[in-house]
Amino acid sequence: MGAETPVVRVEQLTKIYEIGDQRVLALDRIDLTLMPGEFVAVMGPSGSGKSTLMHLVGLLDRPTSGKYFLEGRDVAGLSSDEQADVRSRRLGFVFQSYNLLARTTAVENVELPMIYAGVPDAERRRRALEALDEVDLTHVVDHQPSQLSGGQQQRVAIARALVNNPSMILADEPTGALDTKSSQDVMNLFRELNEKRGITIFLVTHEPDVAKNAKRIVTFRDGHIVSDVAASEAVLR
Ligand code: ADP
Ligand code: MG
Repeated sequence: MGAETPVVRVEQLTKIYEIGDQRVLALDRIDLTLMPGEFVAVMGPSGSGKSTLMHLVGLLDRPTSGKYFLEGRDVAGLSSDEQADVRSRRLGFVFQSYNLLARTTAVENVELPMIYAGVPDAERRRRALEALDEVDLTHVVDHQPSQLSGGQQQRVAIARALVNNPSMILADEPTGALDTKSSQDVMNLFRELNEKRGITIFLVTHEPDVAKNAKRIVTFRDGHIVSDVAASEAVLR
């Protein structure tokens, strides 16, 4: 038996955006390892590179240089199609703006990732309803996003992130548009998914009240990690 394989291991990860003749060094040689079952909050001021890291770890964008191993597999060199396949099977995404399809019911929204993954119709519906039950939305499965509150929409998005049984959920400012009560509901849900199902949670937030739900807090500044501590040791402000 070897040591446990990290969910994420990045080495010297660097991202430079080039716009015209401007170069923005968004991430500067980041080393970071996430073990299975961790709940990590990424904090730091606006523009410090948090979303850039999320995009790279989520295989939504490619680094300028550096290495990336996802569950032990070198994913940096995969083709875009191969990356999309890994993304849909292993990762779930939650964004600040929910990103639900309008004029599409909650259950249909949750079915979408399974259509992409080729899951048969009947199983798709069953699993979507199961995921909506897990986020306490059985009573609104036929509602469209416009008929749901922000908190409910975000819980639909979490159900959608769950349906393909991801090993990790990546969430970029998931409570950024929510009131305090809905934010707490969403964070309680993440904690439950982490504690009961062992799903690794990797979350970006600038709110201390949100970050304190995590077990580990990584703080960014100017594309660098400036602190990486257990949440119990973090001084949040
Ligand atoms: P954060 O999420 O911490 O606010 P970002 O990762 O979004 O920070 O941005 C880090 C830096 O990279 C910022 O200077 C930002 O302006 C720049 N940046 C982010 N995305 C792009 C992009 N698509 N094109 C050019 N510059 C970008
Ligand atoms: Mg951001």
